[in-house]
Amino acid sequence: MKAITVEPKKPGTARLEDVPEPDVREGAVLVEAVAVGVCGTDTEIVEGKYGWAPPSKTRLVLGHESLGRVIDPGPASALKKGDLVVGIVRRPDPVPCPNCAVGEWDMCRNGQYTERGIKQIDGFMSERWRIEPEYAMKIDASLGLLGVLLEPMTVVAKAWEQVQAVGQRALWEPRAVLVTGAGPIGLLAALIAKQHGLEIHVLDRVESGPKPQLVQTLGATYHSGRVASIGFQPDVIVECTGAGQVIADSLNAVAAGGVVCLTGVGSGGRTVGLPLADAATQIVLRNNVVVGSVNANKRHWYKAAQALGRADRVWLARLVSRRERPEEFARALERQPEDIKVVVEFAQA
Ligand SMILES: [Zn+2]
Repeated sequence: MKAITVEPKKPGTARLEDVPEPDVREGAVLVEAVAVGVCGTDTEIVEGKYGWAPPSKTRLVLGHESLGRVIDPGPASALKKGDLVVGIVRRPDPVPCPNCAVGEWDMCRNGQYTERGIKQIDGFMSERWRIEPEYAMKIDASLGLLGVLLEPMTVVAKAWEQVQAVGQRALWEPRAVLVTGAGPIGLLAALIAKQHGLEIHVLDRVESGPKPQLVQTLGATYHSGRVASIGFQPDVIVECTGAGQVIADSLNAVAAGGVVCLTGVGSGGRTVGLPLADAATQIVLRNNVVVGSVNANKRHWYKAAQALGRADRVWLARLVSRRERPEEFARALERQPEDIKVVVEFAQA
């Protein structure tokens, strides 16, 4: 079968090639790939900056934002042939650490977790893949191709749970949420906050294209420019850019008692001139919490599937802005100005 593979840490090694059928030891459920979403992590792996091949192999099958159709559910599974499923990405570490021992692999403490398509387990960019039944999430069949948005949705479902958990430390009556960055994560964060009945604001650099309209259609307010000029103090800021200036501005802009949840990863950039002690003083005097959030455990996958199932299909469909065939995977990895979520499409949903 065909798969998109890469030799991690070696740029320019990604290719579509023939690989053996998936080994039954990878899971009893056999799945036909429908689509796989592409994100910044995939680009980093292809550029040789990140990623680990499975033990005793040199190449890794790419892809962690999956959607597939069950071909064979195996002997002990609640799934049926034809069900649409999405594969959970992370597996607990083998030690396991206390968090992995209780199923909170998203909070793994020793870093020895593994991840499909990223860290030591093959991903989902192959014509067929296998998965353990307990890691296959069945989705609402009416979502069709939009099920490919489930994995990014789990990231925001966890982030939102973190915000709520922090908020509960005191009387918590949040009103306004600011999301920085209107990429897939930012837009899905806005969706989940909207579903919780909050007033939503989304800020991004662009002034035109699909993002402002998607924000408005959601019933939210779009801002371009600096966080400093939004004209109010958000109770919650979900930071999805990873950009130093936006993070610094967010720490300054958040309301007293407010929470800044960081979901973006970045590096370097220019130094923004926010002395750390000054930032800490503001955080102290306003009882702010800055919380980082990554990955998702099964509870978040469940919540994300519920949230996605409730969302407007027409709006979700506009997030999947481009589809490419597996032969054109390189094009899928190249960012174009109007892109939101690009997917590699293996079969009809
Ligand atoms: Zn662990």
